[in-house]
Amino acid sequence: MPDIRRLVIEAGAVRAGVVTLGPVDSYAEELYRNWLAEGRHGEMGYLEKYAEVRHDPRLLLEGARSMIVAAFNYYGGEPEVSQPLKWARYAVGRDYHEEVRERLGRVAEAITAATGAQCRVTVDTAPLRERYWAVKAGVGFLGINNQLIVPEAGSWCVLGEIITTLELEADEPDTRNCLGCMRCVKACPGHALDGHGGMDARRCMSYLSIEKKYHEDDEALMPRLGDRIYGCDICQEVCPHNSCARATEIDNFRPRPSVIGLTREDILGMEQSEFSRIFTHSAIKRAKLAGLQRNARAAGEGEAATRPE
Ligand code: SF4
Ligand code: SF4
Repeated sequence: MPDIRRLVIEAGAVRAGVVTLGPVDSYAEELYRNWLAEGRHGEMGYLEKYAEVRHDPRLLLEGARSMIVAAFNYYGGEPEVSQPLKWARYAVGRDYHEEVRERLGRVAEAITAATGAQCRVTVDTAPLRERYWAVKAGVGFLGINNQLIVPEAGSWCVLGEIITTLELEADEPDTRNCLGCMRCVKACPGHALDGHGGMDARRCMSYLSIEKKYHEDDEALMPRLGDRIYGCDICQEVCPHNSCARATEIDNFRPRPSVIGLTREDILGMEQSEFSRIFTHSAIKRAKLAGLQRNARAAGEGEAATRPE
């Protein structure tokens, strides 16, 4: 049996843990269902789908017994070129779905070669309560900012998982709480955080600038985004748990000058072919050109302000 945690760390993760699979506990399931029932997921209708799988990840792979959860640091440090607009830090390097999938895919192949076990890699690509399982696997704990905080790395991490038919020894869950300073709650421009770990996506700049689909009719309702063009990192930037953040050792996650050098005018004048060329291997393609240009228009209309009540 290979040392799987070591393989995952060698693949570039800053932390890895193992959890024995079973259903999500009833309290967490109820919280999630209530969040949906209150409509706080906005237009993210995909979060309503596959409820059965989402609450029992054993359904993702026949015979699944364990899950390895891995956190990868994407913190790129301070940009080395002029950056006219603010982009979510996770998005300015290579698309983390591709990068993490490749890295965990190699580990999964090694596991299968050594043991014959079946594996399935997921990177935000399956109906899975990623942060819930990361806590169970001891990878980190949840902050009031609704982020997973990884000890000695902070919250600038993306998660990936290997679901496997192997029976592995589980880690202890990380049941700590964050410092509770409420800086994230006070700093959130959309008042999206409820101070108890809950979040209303409809008030979150990240949701509004990435997930919310482009509708010409509701452009007037877009909040003023200031110089934020894609996503929002404010509730992570103010969090004291991130004072330990160090620049990632994954070169592909470092900020790309072709992205962070863009101006509002560059985006407003962009053709589809140029958008495709710049963002092919970038998570930013999710917003599509129309969405990015909508954000560019909102970004040009003054300082960031709260969303209209
Ligand atoms: S990402 Fe920005 S808008 Fe969303 S909860 Fe955090 S601070 Fe608030
Ligand atoms: S800013 Fe303070 S309250 Fe918010 S997640 Fe960080 S430690 Fe917790």
